[in-house]
Amino acid sequence: MPCPRVLRLLRGGLPRLGWELVRPARGSASAPGAADFNSFVARTNTCGELRSAHVGQEVTLYGWIQYQRQGLFLVLRDFQGLTQIILPQDEAHSHVRKLLSNAPVESVVRVTGIVSSRPPGQENPKMPTGDIEVKVETAEILNSCKKLPFEIKDFIKKSEALRMQYRYLDLRSFQLQYNLRLRSQIVMRMREYLCNLHGFVDVETPTLFKRTPGGAKEFLVPSREAGKFYSLPQSPQQFKQLLMVGGVDRYFQVARCYRDEGSRPDRQPEFTQIDIEMSFVDQAGIQGLIEGLLQYSWPQERGAITTPFPSMTYEEALADYGTDKPDTRFGMKIVDISDILRRSDIQFVQNALSYPHGTVKAICIPQGVRYLKNKDLESLKESAKSQFNQEVMDVICRPDGSLKSLLTKLLGKEQQSELIRALNVQVDDVVLLAAGEHKRVCSALGSLRLESADLLEAAGMTLRDPTAFHFLWVVDFPLFLPKEENPAELESAHHPFTAPHPVDTNLLYSDPTKVRSQHYDLVLNGNEIGGGSIRIHNAEQQRFVLEKVLKEDSEVLSHLLEALEFGAPPHGGIALGLDRLISLIVGAPSIRDVIAFPKSFRGRDLMGNAPDYVTPEELEPYHIQVSWPVAETEAKKN
Ligand code: ASP
Repeated sequence: MPCPRVLRLLRGGLPRLGWELVRPARGSASAPGAADFNSFVARTNTCGELRSAHVGQEVTLYGWIQYQRQGLFLVLRDFQGLTQIILPQDEAHSHVRKLLSNAPVESVVRVTGIVSSRPPGQENPKMPTGDIEVKVETAEILNSCKKLPFEIKDFIKKSEALRMQYRYLDLRSFQLQYNLRLRSQIVMRMREYLCNLHGFVDVETPTLFKRTPGGAKEFLVPSREAGKFYSLPQSPQQFKQLLMVGGVDRYFQVARCYRDEGSRPDRQPEFTQIDIEMSFVDQAGIQGLIEGLLQYSWPQERGAITTPFPSMTYEEALADYGTDKPDTRFGMKIVDISDILRRSDIQFVQNALSYPHGTVKAICIPQGVRYLKNKDLESLKESAKSQFNQEVMDVICRPDGSLKSLLTKLLGKEQQSELIRALNVQVDDVVLLAAGEHKRVCSALGSLRLESADLLEAAGMTLRDPTAFHFLWVVDFPLFLPKEENPAELESAHHPFTAPHPVDTNLLYSDPTKVRSQHYDLVLNGNEIGGGSIRIHNAEQQRFVLEKVLKEDSEVLSHLLEALEFGAPPHGGIALGLDRLISLIVGAPSIRDVIAFPKSFRGRDLMGNAPDYVTPEELEPYHIQVSWPVAETEAKKN
């Protein structure tokens, strides 16, 4: 479903997608004039440009035929909008009429003609060019269009697979044109802010490199040296730190990153970061820089953003929202009710509280009785069970204000009132309650909070303002977390180059699990859109983290460790996920909607059909042979 803005555009064509979309922030560098879309080409105007002021002018337009009507008129489209073209009806121009009325829709044409006012009553106020039409005099079919796999109209539904297969046609839609142009303008403003206002240097770093220990899985690229492979970097992390050692002082790059994370919804094996590193900076410095950067590059039509952004510790985020990327656009926070229920005789509650980190917590779903069906409640409980192995009970607030649940018999009047007060329960609210280990209970209730918000909204409640942008810093992460697959071992919560919190540095050597880090994440409406840290710049400390805590082979990083010994300055940085940021700004349901040529959910290019087979001969220089699974050998034979 296109967003309301796009619906407006569909009805009325695009507004001018030039500098007007992204105006400079007040007090910023002077804006260049409006871009000249007609320089170097024979067209005089774009299809979104003509107004009453142009009446009487001879114009030349280039575009695609969007609609045709009975040899009378057609609508021409380009990246900027739609213009109505009137076909000549007189005998002298019959060849032009025939040429244009026989051209299939989506053929690309040139028309030259005179701009005229539309006859009174035929103006279209919803269309920016709706006061005029162009009376065509000469025309040329530059290329005709064969039968299309789908219509180029944003409101026509088409499967994502088909859109991907014919991405170059999908790109003709106003929505994708808008998304790509907005993205380009935001990046332009970011470059301006970083380079012109703050002295950053745009440096390209290699994409053929070697494995970085810790973090995401990397793509391998074979080399001609037997058994040796390059890796595509998951980020320019090592290079940007080495640039600081090299005295570059302030680096940035619009960097392509690669992560072989298998198929995950709304992830791409290749994606783009605004990658930043600075010398002699602390956490507050990086945060100030990013707040300024976003404010400066923010599209004016999305409303102003206020800085500084609020901040929350990792522990608070987990306790209140059950996640390290809280969506703070709505309440329904997790409430600890352990102290209220401690005095009860409820067996499973007592059991949970007897363990270390045992807790009882709850969330209150406003108007849940009215907006949620029984099957919704059942599916919420089922989802806590299947995803988190966590039992959840529901408590309902009756019209008389009393509570109804399997638990209420076991609770005294006073405990019930305390519960109502703690969760601010109103008539018709539903409380979801869970008892168990702190992190598991929080994660389960955090996930139910989001699921129930979706259910409430699907049933008609307005909970999250779709035009609101809530930024949030999450700070004071633990430096290390137990590995999911083997909790006895530790892995970096961010990456192995992150410095410990200065207050906790000594704990690094005695109890690394207790060390907080100088890692910060930026969250927007419940999505992580950036993350970074102040780095370790002391070689010994870096070696200790790699070898003793993470049990990694530090040899792989010997170049970086050595570099830290040659007067490496203190430094820190951050990377913003550009695709996610833009998709949130334009309200796109997927990051694929802001990437020109995205990969499918399974990491495939459905247009060019990549990845693809290569012949054994092509593999030979790389000393590689494919060992085919039997099923695929059979499939290839057929
Ligand atoms: N390289 C890091 C990442 O991709 C960001 C950073 O620490 O600057 O998450």
